[in-house]
Amino acid sequence: MRQYETVETKETHRQIRKIICNKCGREIPVKDGRAQEDFLAVEKRWGYFSDKDNQVDSFDLCESCYDALVATFVIPLGEQE
Ligand SMILES: [Zn+2]
Repeated sequence: MRQYETVETKETHRQIRKIICNKCGREIPVKDGRAQEDFLAVEKRWGYFSDKDNQVDSFDLCESCYDALVATFVIPLGEQE
């Protein structure tokens, strides 16, 4: 989950104010609109062949919740360099 704030510099833009892991509720530190830890950001628009036609879901996971989630996979993650 991300919260944004409007920042006025030379150009007005939106930057990340807060990132909270949807699974554990821990706040991921943000400085000057940038996450200070890496995290998983998911956004999914469900299509016609689902029960959620055109619904957009999004969530963020901290690294430890990501690790816990993928550890439950029957088929392990593929690795790429
Ligand atoms: Zn978490």
